Amino acid sequence: MENNLAKKIVDFIHQSPSPYHTIKSLKSKFEEAYFREVAEDEDVAFLRPGKYFTIRDQRALIAFTLSAAPLEEEGIRFIGTHGDSPSLKLKPNAMIFDRSHLQFGVEVYGGPILSSWFDRPLSLAGKLTYLNNHDQLKNLLIDFKQAVAIIPSVAIHLYREANENRTINKQKEMTPLVATIKNLKHKFPTLFANNNNPSFSELIKEYLSVLNLNVNLEGNDIKEILAHDLRLYDIEMPAVVGLSDEFILATRLDNLLSTFLAAEALITSNTPHTSFFVCYDHEEIGSESNVGAQGTFLTDTLKRLINSSSSSNKNNFNKVMMRSLFVSIDNAHAIHPNYKELHDPEHTPILNGGPVLKVNSNFRYATTPEGEAFFKYFAKKADVPIQTFVSRSDKPCGSTIGPSINRQLNVNTLDIGVPTLSMHSARELAGIDDLNSTLSILTTFLKEKSLKI
Ligand SMILES: [Zn+2]
Repeated sequence: MENNLAKKIVDFIHQSPSPYHTIKSLKSKFEEAYFREVAEDEDVAFLRPGKYFTIRDQRALIAFTLSAAPLEEEGIRFIGTHGDSPSLKLKPNAMIFDRSHLQFGVEVYGGPILSSWFDRPLSLAGKLTYLNNHDQLKNLLIDFKQAVAIIPSVAIHLYREANENRTINKQKEMTPLVATIKNLKHKFPTLFANNNNPSFSELIKEYLSVLNLNVNLEGNDIKEILAHDLRLYDIEMPAVVGLSDEFILATRLDNLLSTFLAAEALITSNTPHTSFFVCYDHEEIGSESNVGAQGTFLTDTLKRLINSSSSSNKNNFNKVMMRSLFVSIDNAHAIHPNYKELHDPEHTPILNGGPVLKVNSNFRYATTPEGEAFFKYFAKKADVPIQTFVSRSDKPCGSTIGPSINRQLNVNTLDIGVPTLSMHSARELAGIDDLNSTLSILTTFLKEKSLKI
């Protein structure tokens, strides 16, 4: 892969197979750039100008640069994304045995294109909460890093309707196969020593010890796994596609692509202005949680900072927000050459045509007129092409974290994104040229001196 930015994004996606791992990857990225971690309950009254980040519940992260200028004069430059993606999540009692097979029971998380999950090598990643040998509860992030599951298609000879008006039953058809009992007994004989089928906790414990996965148990052994939040993910490496090497095909581009670009912009811009990057969880399921955009993570963090700044008074929060701008970045719908009729004919963003401004009169996208104007102004300054998406009037559109932010903060907002095809497929497609142009607009925004209108 020749494009350096694309290469970095591929690495980032590879390191981030679950929302927990996304935050872990971001944490290392910001630490490498000398951002200092501030705990959510740490006193921030004496924070000096500098670079910081804070994490909530291992699932959401805010990184920020503080300038010496008063916030109520300078305002704040915000970029927001989400680190979760549609996926298949293991159910609490995940083990499904029949006489010959072991399968894992899964719930569908968010809105994946289910058909795209068939016949792929799938791995598992997420968080375990376990009891150690000292009877203490511990968390452990875990990534199996090998293909351990597959959802096989049924042969067309047995299912002649496979290509016609097919519906997919989430309970029956999405259950992955993980082993035959015969070979599971052969590989993990101790699990079947008492002739009972092992529990999920026993299986995972054994798997961890037999395969010696490189995990940090802080010197403690796992006595019992009490809870798990594990997702299946496509383990295939991303690919560059096209006669002109211009497309990137990868899993979880929505929204790890924007998450990477936003973090990269904050780090590489070296902005002298107070700027925030926030990465939420739970966007794919409506953002309604303590780590989602409808939660209080950002407002809590802002209030701590604004109330502790020297010239604070009661109206400061609003004053600061009135001089601020929030860019919500999430993938945008490129026009699909086989389905051109799905787009409004005057709004047809293409791959590699530049970042897309998303507009919706029902405010499913949070682009305000001022937000739109700023976007066009930044694009001019950065000298990059831009495109606009509005859905057909007879079709609803998706949404983003933008509207929740606009409502909570009383701030000008805009929704943008890298044009993408196959959104919510297990493998999504974006244009490599759009990576640099999007980064360049974000960087221009973070360096902008005044956001006053
Ligand atoms: Zn998204």
